[in-house]
Order: sequence, then C-alpha cells, then structure tokens
Amino acid sequence: MATVAFIGLGNMGGPMAANLVKAGHAVRGYDRVDTSMARLTERGAQATTSISDAVADADVVITMLPAGAHVREAYLGEDGAFHAARDGTLFADCSTIDVATARALHGEGASRGFRMLDAPVSGGVGGAEAGTLTFMAGGTKEAFEAAQPLFAAMGKTAVHAGGPGNGQAAKICNNMILGVSMIAVSEAFALGEKLGLDHQTLFDIASKSSGQCWSLTSYCPVPGPVPASPANRDYAAGFTAAMMLKDLRLAQDASRAAAANTPLGAEAAALYGLFDSHGHGNLDFSAIIKFLRGAHNNI
Ligand code: NAD
Repeated sequence: MATVAFIGLGNMGGPMAANLVKAGHAVRGYDRVDTSMARLTERGAQATTSISDAVADADVVITMLPAGAHVREAYLGEDGAFHAARDGTLFADCSTIDVATARALHGEGASRGFRMLDAPVSGGVGGAEAGTLTFMAGGTKEAFEAAQPLFAAMGKTAVHAGGPGNGQAAKICNNMILGVSMIAVSEAFALGEKLGLDHQTLFDIASKSSGQCWSLTSYCPVPGPVPASPANRDYAAGFTAAMMLKDLRLAQDASRAAAANTPLGAEAAALYGLFDSHGHGNLDFSAIIKFLRGAHNNI
C-alpha cells in the first residue's frame, strides 16, 4: 500500500481520496478550503497544512484541481509539489486541463526525475463516489502500470492513451463529441415537438436507428424515456453546463493550436457560452434543449 498525497478535495477529489483510504492506502490530503479537509478526515485521511507538507513523505501525488492555472501553481509555485517531493515520486494529475500545460508539466517533472501522468477522468461526481471512474492517462507505460492499483481503487476502467498530454487530448475529444451530440439530440426533440412527434415515439425509433448515441439513450434531454436522466429532475446537474463549456473551450484552444478543423465543436462552445452567460451554467448541460426551443429567459 502506498502513501498518497491528494491535493484538491472538492466534489471529485473528496470522494476519490476517500476511496483510496477504503482500499487501504495512507492518504495525506490538502485543500485550501477547510470544510473539504474536515470531510476528508472524517473519512479516515490525514489532514496536512500545505502542499509541501502533504507531498514530503508521499510515494504518489494525485491532484484534482479546477483548471490549468491551479495545477501549474500547485506543481511549480513557491509551495509547489515539485519542490517538496522525493526523487522518483509518481505524479498523476486527474484534473481536466489544457494539453499544453499538461505537456509542459511532464517536461518539468521528467527533468527533476519524477514519473508523470496526466490522467483526467470521466464519470462525474457519481462515478467518483461509487469508485467507477474511467481514467485516460498520458505518460510512459511504466508510470501507467505503477498507477494501476490507485486507478483500480478509484475507478473501473483505466486506458493508456499514449505519451505526455494524450490523456487530456482524449478527454477533450470525448467531451467535444458529447457536447455536439447533446445539441444534436436536443435539436431533434425540439423539431419533433413542432412536427407533432411524441417524445417516447421519437426515442423508441431513434434509439433503434442510426441516430442512436449516448446523449440519447443514457442521458435523454426530455423527461420520460430515460428515467435516470437529469431532465426528470428539472435538469439538476449531473454534469453542469459550465463544466461542458470549460471542456469545449479547452477543445477549441487545442484545435486552434493544432490547426484542426472543428466547426461543430466551435458552434457547441458558442451555444454553451450563450447559455452560461444567461445565468444557466449551474444547470445540467442537457438543459440546452430549453435554450434551443427559444426559452432563453424562462428556464
Ligand atoms: P471543485 O471546485 O469541487 O474542486 C476543486 C478543489 O480544488 C476545491 O476544493 C479547491 O479549494 C481546490 N483547490 C484549488 N486550488 C488549490 C490549491 N492550490 N491547493 C489546494 N487545493 C486547491 O471541482 P471538481 O468538480 O472536483 O473538479 C475538479 C476537476 O475535475 C476539474 O478539472 C474538472 O473539470 C474535472 N472533472 C469534474 C467532473 C465533475 O462532474 N465535477 C467530471 C469530470 C472531470
């Protein structure tokens, strides 16, 4: 069993760290917010007072932070993890951040003798609680193999996506598919309504036809056909529209940097940006259907 420093104990990091404790690892947690720290110590982890305190005696360092700037500061800042960690420490950044920052941190880490993974996750807060996350990891095969027991404690699937930054690349490509497909499914239901097509009927047909996709069959944006989808709970999030917007913008940044053509990804980012700027960022991302029906202010 390993000694794991866990930095960032929010909605995702808190339950992920708790699952490491359950699996028998010694977890030393750190978050800027006291309430997150308190919740974690109740679940059996040890509280620390700073990133360097958490990291000093750790075999493994896991970070789960909001965005690239937080991750850069947590690794390279004055109290940053790279200054305090022992030689050979294994780092896994599970945050969703930009590919460029992830690759820069791999370079910095390797030059200091650390093993590095960018390892963002899919599965949301429910998956973090249940220990059923999917990890997509970029880095060396050796670092990926070394992290397997930790991924197994927090998730049910871990895929080696390739070299440095490829975990983040996989994450933003996947979420670009998700954002675009949710808009497509929502447009189809909004059109079906205007044409007098019953929701369940459209679902029954499209879910057995070539329109079939996860946004339809697992996360249908209208109430009824998929009882577990947020549409049945007035679009209380699951995965917020603000989070979707963050990931779509990361995809667009990467797309520009790589001179790729992603016009539907760009359109999805623009639509979720409008939705967010109307004050709906905290709703589930499937609530975009209301926006597409034209109900901009009455959501
Ligand atoms: P969150 O805001 O709930 O948690 C982030 C935590 O990081 C906060 O508790 C904050 O206090 C802490 N933090 C920030 N800077 C810090 C620092 N320098 N030192 C210590 N702690 C610091 O966010 P979350 O929902 O847990 O998401 C975390 C990451 O996971 C994000 O990158 C997000 O995109 C990704 N993600 C989230 C979901 C989801 O459904 N919430 C799903 C997949 C991926």
